[in-house]
Amino acid sequence: MDLKDIWQSVLNDIELNISRASFITWFKNSSLIKKDGSTVVVACHNSFTKEWLENKYHKLILKSLRNTNTEIKAVEYIVRVDVKPQIKNTPTKITISPESIPLELGGYAVDKETGLNLKYSFENFVVGSNNEVAYAAAQASGENPGTAYNPLFVYGGVGLGKTHLLHALGNAIKNRFPKKKIKYTTAEKFLSDIVSSLRTKTIAELKDKFKNLDALLIDDIQFIAGAEKTQQELFHIFNALYSHNKQIAFASDRPPKAIASIEERLRSRFEGGMTADIGLPDLETRIAILKAKAQRENTLLNEKIIETIAKQVQKNIRELEGAFNRISAYIKVKGKEPTQKEVESLLSDISRSSTKTMTPKQLLKAVVDFYDLTEETILKKSRSQELVRPRQVAMYLMRETLKMSFPNIGEKLGGKDHTTVIHACEKIEKELVFDTQLAQEINSIKEKIFAE
Ligand code: ADP
Ligand code: MG
Repeated sequence: MDLKDIWQSVLNDIELNISRASFITWFKNSSLIKKDGSTVVVACHNSFTKEWLENKYHKLILKSLRNTNTEIKAVEYIVRVDVKPQIKNTPTKITISPESIPLELGGYAVDKETGLNLKYSFENFVVGSNNEVAYAAAQASGENPGTAYNPLFVYGGVGLGKTHLLHALGNAIKNRFPKKKIKYTTAEKFLSDIVSSLRTKTIAELKDKFKNLDALLIDDIQFIAGAEKTQQELFHIFNALYSHNKQIAFASDRPPKAIASIEERLRSRFEGGMTADIGLPDLETRIAILKAKAQRENTLLNEKIIETIAKQVQKNIRELEGAFNRISAYIKVKGKEPTQKEVESLLSDISRSSTKTMTPKQLLKAVVDFYDLTEETILKKSRSQELVRPRQVAMYLMRETLKMSFPNIGEKLGGKDHTTVIHACEKIEKELVFDTQLAQEINSIKEKIFAE
């Protein structure tokens, strides 16, 4: 038996003993590269896999090896990126949407100083009955910052265009008044800036910076719930800006009234200007959004396909765009439009995932199952790499799929600090761009979550 055959037989054996997802994840890129007397060498394509095979699957591997050749007594694991994997095709889909690529890694053109993403403008925002009030208010604020509507508070469900509107507002002010100092930030970033400046005793400078702005735009403001110190600082910054007629705008997933644990005085500030909600887009608006996107990207799609996409994805424009991207990728690869049946199958999991509700507990279970761990071990305070990464993945997924707040995620993972959670989510998000193995793990878990 040559090395290849030995390893194939080992793989066949192992495949029967562990879950399909784990098998693909941990064994797909491994191979047997050497046999020296009673010792064999297994090559793994990264160090994480190496550790994993060593620590978790060594016994199984050795046993399977000895089934093929009783002479084998020891296994060495090494990292080799250049080794060809033995398993060729994998059923696991890797889908990294451009939205999930962190801005600082070049996902989109973001202005460093203002934090504004140049791709979002009023021009490419499709107006429908669901968002016309919010749109008009934002546009008026862009024309007369600080005096038209102040503060502007936009709220609505996930993926309905709040962030887009905030950036469009900032970009409009910037275009009209190039000298004005504008800052777009998120509540989480704001919170972590405040916290770290308190630590380094630079809070005064940070506050000065904010108070000198001409426009301050804070996204996902609901995430300052429970953060008392941050709320206090925001209150003072708000008052300073407001009293000088500087534009302030917030986006939130819920109206001010529904944000639990924020100071009353801050809530009344939020409510003190213009609040506008963004509702679900009707079919006509969804079709218009798809057509605009098709035109921008020079993708030819017939009416029927556009309508099918628009009918399938109803509640989230980000998902609507995701569906579009899938179809457009199909066209690029195959060089032809998909048939109606193919469109339906390409989109079959999208509507399911958008309506799916899942509890943090179920999600955590999916993660620990995938990594062959138990809930107890993952909640332990251990820092071993074997646990750290699954824990970070769990945090990331809670954030990404369940939109939970950082403190809430920390709590669900055995009382971790919210800064630990922020760090974990950022880390995974960054690594996802380069680490296809990680992307695959996460997609396998997601598939499992949504398949149930
Ligand atoms: P939210 O902040 O409400 O979760 P986003 O602003 O991030 O949602 O919007 C999600 C995606 O949908 C973005 O790519 C955005 O450009 C797009 N989008 C949302 N609303 C519209 C609209 N009315 N016209 C065009 N694109 C839109
Ligand atoms: Mg948003």
